[in-house]
Amino acid sequence: CGIIGILGKDSVAMQLVDALKRLEYRGYDSAGVATLEGGVLTRCRAEGKLTNLEQRLGSEHLAGISGIGHTRWATHGAPTETNAHPHMNARVAVVHNGIIENFRALRAELTEAGIAIETETDTEVVAHLVAHEMDGGATPEEAVGKVLPRLEGAFALAFLFDGHDDLMIGARRGSPLAIGYGDGTMYVGSDAIALAPFTDRIAYLEDGDWAVVRRSGVRIYEESGAEVQRPVRQSQTSA
Ligand code: GLU
Repeated sequence: CGIIGILGKDSVAMQLVDALKRLEYRGYDSAGVATLEGGVLTRCRAEGKLTNLEQRLGSEHLAGISGIGHTRWATHGAPTETNAHPHMNARVAVVHNGIIENFRALRAELTEAGIAIETETDTEVVAHLVAHEMDGGATPEEAVGKVLPRLEGAFALAFLFDGHDDLMIGARRGSPLAIGYGDGTMYVGSDAIALAPFTDRIAYLEDGDWAVVRRSGVRIYEESGAEVQRPVRQSQTSA
């Protein structure tokens, strides 16, 4: 339902939660964040309101200056902590807005390949498909580039990769996603309101686009794989 991602300079966990609070108006049933601590993916999730997640983070202290966060409005799978995003394995963490329509077929394929499915969500298959490509030698960019065309339905996605502290990948088809340009920091968000506290320089991805985001800048590709430029606009949304 709501997505935020930050390649930052300081600890991001609470920044992610603050951005998610700005998306509360959209409604949600659970929430979660994942950060890279010393290059290792770590996550924290909670059912219900963001105050529950905040409480958890108060005791679990997620460090890390790169992170992604999500408020979930369940479409597939009950609104439990297990089904809350980010979905994650040893390689990648992902948050998702929308619906992966062909998740049952993809799940069957993964099960066939011996990969254990942990949740009832449509989203989890995306994490495993990307990890599976990386296990076969693909870079994160190559893996996402291979998996996106296999997904049917509407989605906005944000990925964070184990061992890659300066990389975030965002993708959209059907659901909105924007890139925020900071000063040595970069952001992705499902709307400008989430990005407003961090930056007013925003590029909206167009349908089918995906973006490889690093602190030094962004490369955006359209569905065909060709690199494209999307205009960076001064957002009118106030923090
Ligand atoms: N379909 C996904 C799920 O149920 C994402 C729902 C959303 O947009 O929050 O987990």
